[in-house]
Amino acid sequence: MELYELSIQTAHKLLKQKKISSLELTRAVLERIQSVEPKVQAYITVAADAAMEQAEFADQAISRGNMTGLTGIPLAIKDLICTRGLRTTCASKILENFIPPYDATVIEKLKEAGAVIVGKANMDEFAMGSSTENSGIQLTRNPWDLKRIPGGSSGGSAAAVAAGMCLGALGSDTGGSIRQPASHCGVVGMKPTYGRVSRYGLVAFASSLDQIGPMAKDVTDCAVLMKTIAGYDEKDSTSVPLEVPDYTDFLKNGLKKITVGIPKEYHAAEGIDPEVAAAVKNAVGVIENLGAECVEVSLPHTKHCVAVYYVIAPSEAGSNLARYDGVRYGSRNKDTRNLIEMYRNTRARGFGMEVQRRIILGTYALSAGYYDAYYKKASQVRTLILEDFKKAFETCDVILSPVAPTPAFTIGEMIEDPLTMYLSDIFTISANLAGIPGISVPCGFSSDGLPIGLQIMGKHFNEETIFQTAYNFEQATDFHKKKPGL
Ligand code: GLN
Repeated sequence: MELYELSIQTAHKLLKQKKISSLELTRAVLERIQSVEPKVQAYITVAADAAMEQAEFADQAISRGNMTGLTGIPLAIKDLICTRGLRTTCASKILENFIPPYDATVIEKLKEAGAVIVGKANMDEFAMGSSTENSGIQLTRNPWDLKRIPGGSSGGSAAAVAAGMCLGALGSDTGGSIRQPASHCGVVGMKPTYGRVSRYGLVAFASSLDQIGPMAKDVTDCAVLMKTIAGYDEKDSTSVPLEVPDYTDFLKNGLKKITVGIPKEYHAAEGIDPEVAAAVKNAVGVIENLGAECVEVSLPHTKHCVAVYYVIAPSEAGSNLARYDGVRYGSRNKDTRNLIEMYRNTRARGFGMEVQRRIILGTYALSAGYYDAYYKKASQVRTLILEDFKKAFETCDVILSPVAPTPAFTIGEMIEDPLTMYLSDIFTISANLAGIPGISVPCGFSSDGLPIGLQIMGKHFNEETIFQTAYNFEQATDFHKKKPGL
């Protein structure tokens, strides 16, 4: 096995036993990037020198016996999480040269833990999209089939993990952007409960939906990353002061006492690919065989999720993106005669088409006369969606569903059809609207050899039960062991 293929927990063991050094591990990952990145293009920025420096520090810490589960481990960071001194673009022309003067809280935590940051991963511009094709910088390809999208918006992070160009990564999830690319790239990705992980230093897309979360090769690695990044932060007023459990402690508990809910609306959803449906059905069977009890639950407002999301998310985005005006933030367009033209050109040339579409949608939905009809109504239905989950969780501990209705589609297939693209978020969006946690774990392959993910959603702040269910499923199956042949 090559060093870049190691899981985080195996690399940790080898580092601890001094069988490998972080310098060797980091060098192996950087060489892997050199060899496959020209095909995959997962990174906007590779910080090779800084990574080698961090690796050296990590080795020194290890030799002093000062080590966490992440010391010396090379990671990728989605390029909308601020990294001090390291360019953070949000995959947008408007922030192409932005170098943050501070670290996001999650980055501070990773650095404290001794992790090595290899680079910044590509994404849909400002996290708007489901394929990473909306990046204003470059096109990322799915390591399993280079003609296909890696999913989005955290497509760079997912592709980097799948291709062995890092051992783990951080993404962000506003409507599915961690889980969906994890599913399409055959890796594990968790969207934590809203408020579990600090958003300080995460460039805002839709503030009431955004969450940072871990992506990795397996469930244990995800749990290790999650433990490090979670927790209360006084710099984020929506973060919640709750104790963070050691998620790895729960993994080995069996499923005998777990009740899983199967939402009838999800499995009857239109447009779901038969191979995806079959893989998820098989996964439910595996989990049942492991001793879990299965019950049917109902989430009757599921059919409104996409509509509600595409009012609320653009409304918040329109407000959040007002700051990129060439004065407060964003590279200013110089080719202008007056102030109004400067604003107009800066925003028209700095933002890509999808971002402009969302700003227009959001501005419309919040305008006087339409606010009550759209934004207020959407907020009310959002509450009903949350009530659906609360009711369902009275009879079960976790809920199972597909992550995406189809495996990864081909590049260009949906880009001209934003509505169909929006519908591909149908299974993931509701967790963000309700604020609950969810994970994607590999559960099969299509006949074309494309990965398929199973979604496990849980109660607020009950990530441990999700990890436990996902781990037991993973141990009973081999899907996570297969690697793309790059
Ligand atoms: N695909 C969804 C969107 O385009 C979700 C994106 C996300 O989670 N950041 O908004």
